[in-house]
Amino acid sequence: RAKAAGRNGARLFLPHMQQDADNRLELERGLRTALERNQLSLHFQPQVSMNGKLQGAEALLRWRHPELGDVPPDVFIPVAEETGLIHALGTWVITRACAHIQAWRSQGVNFGGRLAVNVSPWQIAHPQFVEHIQAIVVTAGIDPEWLTLELTESALLNDFEAALATLHALSSIGFRLAMDDFGTGYSSLAYLQQLPLDELKIDRSFVSALQPSVPDPLAGFIVDIGRRLGMATIAEGVETEQQRARLGAMGCDTLQGYLICRPLPEAEFLHWLASRQTVAEKNIA
Ligand code: C2E
Ligand code: MG
Ligand code: MG
Ligand code: MG
Repeated sequence: RAKAAGRNGARLFLPHMQQDADNRLELERGLRTALERNQLSLHFQPQVSMNGKLQGAEALLRWRHPELGDVPPDVFIPVAEETGLIHALGTWVITRACAHIQAWRSQGVNFGGRLAVNVSPWQIAHPQFVEHIQAIVVTAGIDPEWLTLELTESALLNDFEAALATLHALSSIGFRLAMDDFGTGYSSLAYLQQLPLDELKIDRSFVSALQPSVPDPLAGFIVDIGRRLGMATIAEGVETEQQRARLGAMGCDTLQGYLICRPLPEAEFLHWLASRQTVAEKNIA
């Protein structure tokens, strides 16, 4: 891949790079069609507090290409960002997420009350983003507090002052803000302190480093940072019971990962919620 070119700046043209460029074009064309033809959907992954209480869910974008099959977001989001399609895609995600929140609330579905969406740095940098997202929630008739916006540290890299102003505006409207993949970017603690964040999401790499009988290098440190800055911590990619126990001992607030549930399409997610509720009711009875 061109991106993997040597750190000294040397670039080699390899035959597969032409193929990469062709794929990219194919993906860009496909994404435009996907937006028009309803080939996109959201999957939902529950977020559960350390004592088992449902806190909400994260919405994850899925694209089923008619010929290529499922294209992972790690592949198509960068293409959307490079081509400017991220704005239309991001708007679609937020609009759909609000529609789901509205529908579930009016149907009395207990999903924890909050839905998180991933927001690209390009969306944050858009001068009309705040106006735009506010219009979406007003139209959907939902309270901004029901929506958590997950951003990454790279949202702060280009124009920190502008990003800071945007985050403060979003926060004062009532949106919850979470820092995704925390600890993998380049932002400094001095920056972090200025951000109106509600949650820090401990990156999966720190969670998977929690192997039995190996001392914890960093996850506990991130929980401490969150506590000092008054932010809740949520661990992503929790896969094992041992990881859950160690995160609990550190004082991490919330868990997300395959241990609890994989991201699911809406019907299966609602099914998961319903069967969980039945178990809870049985336990009380
Ligand atoms: P993310 O926001 O950090 O999402 C977490 C990713 O980890 C998801 O991958 C999820 O399926 C996966 N995951 C959850 N639990 C586990 C686990 O226990 N083990 C492992 N190995 N993985 C787990 P996914 O859905 O492929 O999404 C990848 C990334 O694509 C997301 O990372 C996010 O950065 C981006 N993305 C997804 N949807 C959107 C979207 O609507 N907009 C934008 N801008 N980015 C999105
Ligand atoms: Mg996320
Ligand atoms: Mg993440
Ligand atoms: Mg991630």
